[in-house]
Amino acid sequence: MSREFPDTRDPNRPIVTFGTGVELSAGCLETFPELAAALIDTKPATFNNAVHITSADDSNHGKDDGGSFHYVGAGYDVRFVGSRHGGIVVPGMETPGDTPEAQKKYADRQAKLADWWAARLAMRLRGRWQIVREKDHIHAERDPGR
Ligand SMILES: [Zn+2]
Repeated sequence: MSREFPDTRDPNRPIVTFGTGVELSAGCLETFPELAAALIDTKPATFNNAVHITSADDSNHGKDDGGSFHYVGAGYDVRFVGSRHGGIVVPGMETPGDTPEAQKKYADRQAKLADWWAARLAMRLRGRWQIVREKDHIHAERDPGR
């Protein structure tokens, strides 16, 4: 007998989680499933194997990232920073370290891995979505016309 869905008891399964106050409106039903699948398929190693959405159809998004798509159910922010839930795991560096230098090195490696993730994501979504690696998150938006 084959199983249609992955076993949700598997602790290594990738998960999608949402920050406090993040809301998905009805409009998100059209756009989010496509993005969520692509995020899971392309993601690097993350803490708790999580893709953590910090903003969707709500007012949590930054002002400087073309946030208007957040209001129409087509804009999302994805965490990658920090050694916390959903942050990118830097191979060979278990913790960000104690010194400012070590922490900067960790953040730089995370940013490079986020660039790689954003590029893979954009390729996977083939032009229907705009993917921007912002300073502390990946912004993804789908043009309603596409
Ligand atoms: Zn955004």
